[in-house]
Amino acid sequence: MKKILTTILCIAVICGACLAQSSKKAKYIFLFIGDGMGISHVSLTEAYLADKAGKTGSEYLSFSKFPYTGFVTTYSANSFTTCSSASGTAFSTGYKTKNLMLAVAPDSVTKLKSVSYKLKEKGFKIGISSNVAINHATPAVFYANNISRTAYYEIGLQLWQSGFDFFGGGSFMQDKGKGKNLQSLEEITKNNGYAITWGIKEINEISANVEKVVAFFNENNAVQNLSYAINRKGDEAKLSDIVEAEIKFLKARENKGFFIMAEGGIIDWCAHDNDAAGTVKEVIDLSEAVQVAIDFYEQHPDETLIIVTADHETGGITLARTGGGKNGFSSLDGQTGSVGILDKENGRAICDSINIAAGVGFSTKGHTGIVVPVYAVGAGAELFTGKFDNTDIPRKIMKAAGFEF
Ligand SMILES: [Zn+2]
Repeated sequence: MKKILTTILCIAVICGACLAQSSKKAKYIFLFIGDGMGISHVSLTEAYLADKAGKTGSEYLSFSKFPYTGFVTTYSANSFTTCSSASGTAFSTGYKTKNLMLAVAPDSVTKLKSVSYKLKEKGFKIGISSNVAINHATPAVFYANNISRTAYYEIGLQLWQSGFDFFGGGSFMQDKGKGKNLQSLEEITKNNGYAITWGIKEINEISANVEKVVAFFNENNAVQNLSYAINRKGDEAKLSDIVEAEIKFLKARENKGFFIMAEGGIIDWCAHDNDAAGTVKEVIDLSEAVQVAIDFYEQHPDETLIIVTADHETGGITLARTGGGKNGFSSLDGQTGSVGILDKENGRAICDSINIAAGVGFSTKGHTGIVVPVYAVGAGAELFTGKFDNTDIPRKIMKAAGFEF
């Protein structure tokens, strides 16, 4: 009798699990990476928004109210403090590598396969995007393999070979190679079946017949990233514009789903510069880009998974510093441009005094090895809780989509 009861119980449990799995497979998957975005970058931005609203405390960002959160370890194969390409390799391929290497194992020979290729094999449409150059480390780990993240030309050559459907972001770094004497990457990509568009209008008006596109959003080909949020003028493109165009393009062409990786790449650069005002504006940009995905999720709640995390923390930010903070976090608004844009002589001094007034401290101009947060909502989001390693991210993505890793 006891055995029969146990069997009935087991069947009931298994059926319940099967039902839960089959009805909530992730078909539309978003992976947002805030480059260098530690929990302190998120907390700072939340505190800044609260202060601006006249409150002491914390306002939610689009993603910080997600129901599932966790912590992710980021160390690389040879260093407790990772770089973007080693961390990117981990959350793209599921394996650790050494700093500066890009989707290649520590033996320098074995190529590691990104989750984007695995999902493409399952019929997903693939979109890779960033507000920095499309052959920079974080977007590159999803389509290229190289022993050096700075081999921009060789990495760029692998973009069209991926056959992925949408690339969006800043144009190619070293478009004609280091010596500027090689065939243009843009030209090669075009010759191999990709449409190339420039700006928001061209991509949004693209013909329905175009199957693969590289959409550049930088204003000026001489600078291969979108403008820093703090420097942006008028209608210059931002990360949310890219994600909007990316969803529109992929949704119109998919039947089995899509995978979108979108990077807020300038958070890291502002934090390297110990520029709190610039950092906050970049995190807000990421939050707005995630909101575009949330709007999509609300239309497809049972089939959409949104994950927001980071590759590492940059700057060692603290939300208190000796003798600082008297003017509140919103005093960051007193800064009118990024450190590099402000007057060359005084930019550093202006930024430092604003950091002090706001009470924001930095402990390094580099990366740190502290765990980064992860936020998730939607189908399979419950997998992204607790403390886990960055190599688990692609494994969890495949599981959420109902596939073996
Ligand atoms: Zn960095």
